[in-house]
Amino acid sequence: MGNLNTTVLAIQAHPDDTEIFCAGTLALLKQKGFKIVIATMTPGGMGGVTHDEKGTAKIRGEEATRAAAILDAEYYCLEQRDGYVFDNTEARIAVTSLIQKVKADVVFTHLPFDYHPDHRATSYIVEAGTILATLPNVPTEETPLKRTPLLYYTSPFGFTNNMGGKITDPSFFVDITSTFEKKKEMLSFHESQKKVMELMFNIADFFEDMRDSDQNMGKIAGVRYAEAYWQNTGGGFPKDPLIQKILKEYRR
Ligand SMILES: [Zn+2]
Repeated sequence: MGNLNTTVLAIQAHPDDTEIFCAGTLALLKQKGFKIVIATMTPGGMGGVTHDEKGTAKIRGEEATRAAAILDAEYYCLEQRDGYVFDNTEARIAVTSLIQKVKADVVFTHLPFDYHPDHRATSYIVEAGTILATLPNVPTEETPLKRTPLLYYTSPFGFTNNMGGKITDPSFFVDITSTFEKKKEMLSFHESQKKVMELMFNIADFFEDMRDSDQNMGKIAGVRYAEAYWQNTGGGFPKDPLIQKILKEYRR
């Protein structure tokens, strides 16, 4: 698998999740010649205080598209409802269809015990959608893949699980110190989220909070800024440690 023909698809629940949880690593993979595709399960319609759900979704879709452009990435939205993401047949088919359409070799999504219910549902939907991507009987309009994509999980915010407990054992960390500014630039397009974070989580500075989280993981990894990953090597998933190999000089 040559880097130039390798596609990484990040499927997260909301616009800004990819920027917060894995943009530093995606920027490194872009430098290595990977093609990056970013998708969200929802258009993030609940994440607004000045517009209604539809108006907020439109603003956030534009923010996500502009952020993705920093990595020359296409942006897709799978149009589930923000705050009400459920694992169901239609959502799984939408994920499989997108994986087939962009011919994903690697898929990134949330950890199954992430703090946010939409993130946890997304994790299950994406796991199921990925495992189905090679099967000809799955009812999509796309051509089934020849190979099941590798599946990686990103770190939850604050490096804690859904009960607030500390997480200790990622498969590996990625040193994102060299791409942290690019990550910040991508997140800066999500201007609409500043007020929402203040209202929901009493987070005064959305951007500083992301920095603190990456610094915290960096401290554990022994670098300035880091992101954490888990590879799903269970069941029918391929176990090739592709990302670990490609990013070996950044792996901790
Ligand atoms: Zn989210």
